[in-house]
Amino acid sequence: MNSDNSSGTQRTRGTDGTTLDIVVDDTSTLPHGLVRLRSGVIAVTHVYCPNGHNLVDENSDARFNGYPGISLKIKGEEEEGIVIVSPIHGDDTRFGANDFTPGEVTTVCCPVCDVELPLVQDCGCTTHSKLVGLYLDPELVEGSQVVMCNAWGCLRSRITDRFQIISKLD
Ligand SMILES: [Zn+2]
Ligand SMILES: [Zn+2]
Repeated sequence: MNSDNSSGTQRTRGTDGTTLDIVVDDTSTLPHGLVRLRSGVIAVTHVYCPNGHNLVDENSDARFNGYPGISLKIKGEEEEGIVIVSPIHGDDTRFGANDFTPGEVTTVCCPVCDVELPLVQDCGCTTHSKLVGLYLDPELVEGSQVVMCNAWGCLRSRITDRFQIISKLD
């Protein structure tokens, strides 16, 4: 990592929580701005709500191995807040609101327009938990999505390109 910071704003290294290697495997090209790290895991560089808001803020200080996180508004039974999850698939690092209990079914919303992310299917990890979807393209193409569970702490998720699984975590 470059210790100089040309942008002038000093990033706090402490907000970069992951330990996965950042090296990009440039032998394979992936659609939708997806990046494959040399360790094999996939990172998302942009992802959209059903109204087309990009939930990856490139200028965010919440970084995961250098990649900006995905901002979500999580509404639990008693608390709600902004949670920034890792854009690196399989990395369970997150920042922000934390007042939820493991397995608690939450409502996952866009932090910009507050729209609830569409339900894709049951997850099965707990009663009423569902997989909810974000879109990889600003055109909101169904099947080219990041899908994740709305139960707090459940890591079941997948990244799909035209319904084909690129990366999956069960
Ligand atoms: Zn939105
Ligand atoms: Zn689940």
